[in-house]
Amino acid sequence: MEPKSDKPRIVPCPSCGGDSVFAPSNRWRPFCSERCREHDLGAWASESFRVQAAPPTEDQDLPH
Ligand SMILES: [Zn+2]
Repeated sequence: MEPKSDKPRIVPCPSCGGDSVFAPSNRWRPFCSERCREHDLGAWASESFRVQAAPPTEDQDLPH
């Protein structure tokens, strides 16, 4: 076994860039907290919704 496994791995939080414990004890990993996790998912969801809401321009050029 490697000695590194004894210590939790610290990774930068994708949302705030702070220290995040990448271990089973951190249910929000790789995020540092629930707030950061929800913030990131919210941004992703809103962006996805915006893309789906935008009408495909190619279809508008097709003859009806
Ligand atoms: Zn964070």
